[in-house]
Amino acid sequence: MPLFTRADLLAANQCARRAWLQQHPPAEAPERLRLPRSDDRDAVRDAMRRRYPGGITIPVEAPLETRLAATAAAIADTAIPAIFDATFAFDQIVVRAAVLERRPGGFVVSEAKAANSVGEAHELDVAVVGWVAAQTGTPIAGLSLAHFDPDYVRRETLDDQALFVVVPVLPREFATAHARLRASAARADEPPAKVGHHCQHPRECPFRTHCAPSTGEFSVQRLPRAGKVQQELAELGVTDVRQIPTHVRMNPTQQHAVWSLVNHAEYIGGGLLPSLRNVRWPLRFLDFEACQPAVPRWPGTSPFQQLPTQWSMHVQYEDGRVEHSAFLHTEDSDPREAFVRSLVTAVGTEGSILVYSGYEATTLRGLRDRMPEAWSEFEGIVNRIMDMLPVIRDHYYHPDLEGSFSIKAVLPAVCPDVGYDDLEVQDGATAARLWLRMISSGTPDDERAHIRASLLAYCERDTLALLCVREALVARAGG
Ligand code: SF4
Repeated sequence: MPLFTRADLLAANQCARRAWLQQHPPAEAPERLRLPRSDDRDAVRDAMRRRYPGGITIPVEAPLETRLAATAAAIADTAIPAIFDATFAFDQIVVRAAVLERRPGGFVVSEAKAANSVGEAHELDVAVVGWVAAQTGTPIAGLSLAHFDPDYVRRETLDDQALFVVVPVLPREFATAHARLRASAARADEPPAKVGHHCQHPRECPFRTHCAPSTGEFSVQRLPRAGKVQQELAELGVTDVRQIPTHVRMNPTQQHAVWSLVNHAEYIGGGLLPSLRNVRWPLRFLDFEACQPAVPRWPGTSPFQQLPTQWSMHVQYEDGRVEHSAFLHTEDSDPREAFVRSLVTAVGTEGSILVYSGYEATTLRGLRDRMPEAWSEFEGIVNRIMDMLPVIRDHYYHPDLEGSFSIKAVLPAVCPDVGYDDLEVQDGATAARLWLRMISSGTPDDERAHIRASLLAYCERDTLALLCVREALVARAGG
């Protein structure tokens, strides 16, 4: 007989069809939609456990029967104040409580989230564990969630008590979800369901493309930033951009996209060329990468604070010459000061600084409190920044963008000869993870050198991409 997990019961809580699909994955979906475990989650778990001295851990790798017996024994032993990974099974549903804390009158089920706030999805995560534990006869006196205090600033050592904010969670009823889960296990055919608001709440359902398949080149799913519009269209039964009723309100970017899809052509607005030419030479194409440790790693940093670790800059002169420079912090220390000092020297005082998104300006402004004495220098940098993203979003669309204006989407549409396929690092999240691995004392020297080269190559490609995109769009707009 199959065993069900917390994820299965939560799927059933969202929709009967999702419960069934979770057990009978369609061919186009992965069998189990799980994210790989990150170092952050382990760091959060360890910090959370340190808050409960004397707690014991149920080994998660042990067979289920062993874990259940160990949990029951620990519950019976009143000298044990807290049980980590306490395991419960009810009617083939197996769940683990991250922390089961003994209190007068029962136990409190707690879980820490690697987040600076919690929402309904997090609350359901812990509530479902409490419900299953209660069905086994365990006296559950309460539920709570711990999340990071975003205002916490680490001093020399980490303060596990001050790091977290603990919020109570109300118990929920999962009897209906349980019945759905049982019914879906017994059912051979896929239950009918209509996509709607529930498909995105409390979490986006991974089976959306299965339930509302794309209608190909004219699919409304190809519209940019169209969550609300797509919801409205789904409720109207409209899946094709050519059939969008006139009363459905779309923003100008979505209107450009509809025009582009219907006409199989790129949309080039009249404002594109003047906006891209509104620059001062030399042009400095700049990109930052950052790390964002969940648990503050260095004094003076907060949970999930973005800390810039590297930059790349391509400089294009009016006569066509191009130069490149870069910086990468390679030590296990707060990278901010070295980052800013190297940047101030490199960007000089002349020329526009072209970026793609507001991230670079936001990062520099965020350093104002950290380096007030240097603010006058990098305030000048902020004032020279020109963001290409809103320019492109407001004045350009290509059918291949698939609704996205990320540079990874724009580059192949505009400059198909330049890409990231030959690089080991192809996205910022991977770069952030690898940077932390590179600075870790346990990483061998040859691996560090390899990561360093990969990170430098990735960031360099980002700024080359900006340069190529601008040149290509200026040419297409008739410049
Ligand atoms: S996409 Fe919506 S209807 Fe389909 S399984 Fe998910 S929640 Fe249910």
